[in-house]
Amino acid sequence: MREGQWGRLVQWARAGADAHQGLRYLVLGLVWLLLWRLSALMEYAPHASIWFPPAGLSFAALLLLGWRAVPVLMACAVTVTFWMAQLYASAAGWHDVLLTGLLFGAAHCASYGVGAAVLTHLVRRHVLVSAPAIILTFLLVGCLSALCAALSGIGALQATGMLGRGTEPGLWLPWWVGDMAGALVLTPLFLGLLSWRYPQIEPWLGGLSFSLPAQKRAGFGLKLGISMLLVSVVLIVAAHVPYPEVAFGMFFLILPQMWIVYTESPFRSALSLAIFSTVVAIWVASLNLVDQALTYQFAICVIAASAYFGFAVPALMAQNQQLSELAFSDSLTKAATKSYFFERAEREREEAERKARPLSLIVLDIDHFKAINDTHGHSIGDETLIRLSRAVRVQLGPQDLLGRFGGDEFTLLLPGAELEQAMATAEQLRRLLWHTHVPGTKQHLSASFGVVTLSPRETIMQAFKRADMLLLEAKRHGRNSVGVT
Ligand code: GH3
Ligand code: MG
Repeated sequence: MREGQWGRLVQWARAGADAHQGLRYLVLGLVWLLLWRLSALMEYAPHASIWFPPAGLSFAALLLLGWRAVPVLMACAVTVTFWMAQLYASAAGWHDVLLTGLLFGAAHCASYGVGAAVLTHLVRRHVLVSAPAIILTFLLVGCLSALCAALSGIGALQATGMLGRGTEPGLWLPWWVGDMAGALVLTPLFLGLLSWRYPQIEPWLGGLSFSLPAQKRAGFGLKLGISMLLVSVVLIVAAHVPYPEVAFGMFFLILPQMWIVYTESPFRSALSLAIFSTVVAIWVASLNLVDQALTYQFAICVIAASAYFGFAVPALMAQNQQLSELAFSDSLTKAATKSYFFERAEREREEAERKARPLSLIVLDIDHFKAINDTHGHSIGDETLIRLSRAVRVQLGPQDLLGRFGGDEFTLLLPGAELEQAMATAEQLRRLLWHTHVPGTKQHLSASFGVVTLSPRETIMQAFKRADMLLLEAKRHGRNSVGVT
């Protein structure tokens, strides 16, 4: 291809990428405006809605795109301020409305932008590693960012006279909690959606994933239906009885929500939280449940926070599994660690004594292993240890246990095996290993064995020492053999 043609191709590719980028920002802006309009429809008092969904989108956009999201969010803030001026029939001139929009946008972007920057920094620097730590910090940062957004947003509207002085005592709390509900409920959902559309964005927030669950779980619709029915019952009853305490019934919604969290994918859980919050907002606005609005807002926040900790449970369980595997098995050979082997052996000894069953122990050591290392290198030495461990483990019964005593010495516990059976096993393993080659060579793998059966009242350590002596004897008698009393 000629250089000119190549240059043109690169230009087209760049223009295409720019257009794609531009489209992405346009979609972000349009969705933000749509969410704002929806939250304005759900207002139960001027500037106060049960929740403010755009806060969730702003936080998610700032987390994923960083400060690049600011121009779009500023444009949205200015647009909605003009929209708000029209909805509330404000008498302010267009330049005042523009100034208010810019101030409101700056307050909103700075509040969530700083929060997102702090959170991203902590995750990238590996200060926050575990899912619970990330979730806890996300909740804390979301809560503080929403508070800043509410206080500075009210300040912005007051500075230009769009909001009267002295309105803040009644407004800051519902504004804050509404922003917080939007940010806590929707940020993970939007992060999940954006990670799905743009898979290069890692879904770092506690593993929100779109991957289908291993087994198909039916009944998501049913669970969602039960949840929505309960919300509706609580709110309709609250609207028709003179007991404000009924509002606290909303906290019972944590039960169906946690049911969804523990049985569905994180994405479905986040989606059901969003649907639940929307339904609450619509009912509160349409039934005019102004007096208990704050209780419902807190219920949304508490349920969302609990649900996100629910997400962390599988991650914690996986971590625990990993930790216990690390503690119980040798990282190279996957044989049991020395401490775990002797702990299990002691338990088996007690069991064998109680049930008057035999218990045998084999100790084996590779012959001239040092020479394998010296001749072929330590990585071949490592692979030899892995190969031996694998070959032995394949031969074992479900009760048997292979342990690595250290270096090239292994221990084998055979519950229920008499001395003769154990000797036969050792002989079988000796032959098997002899037919196994040192990886990448034609060299036979040779090992020596010591075999014992526990005598009555003999400790595991005493039996091990006996087996080790027999092993040394086998070594002295020319190796590649089984030493037995
Ligand atoms: P013998 O037949 O008497 O057992 O001779 P040997 O050469 O096998 O002697 P010994 O059992 O004392 O040697 C063990 C060697 O194993 C010495 C040590 O460098 C090596 N070794 C110990 N752990 C590892 C390991 O994890 N990987 C590798 N590659 N080598 C190891
Ligand atoms: Mg050896």
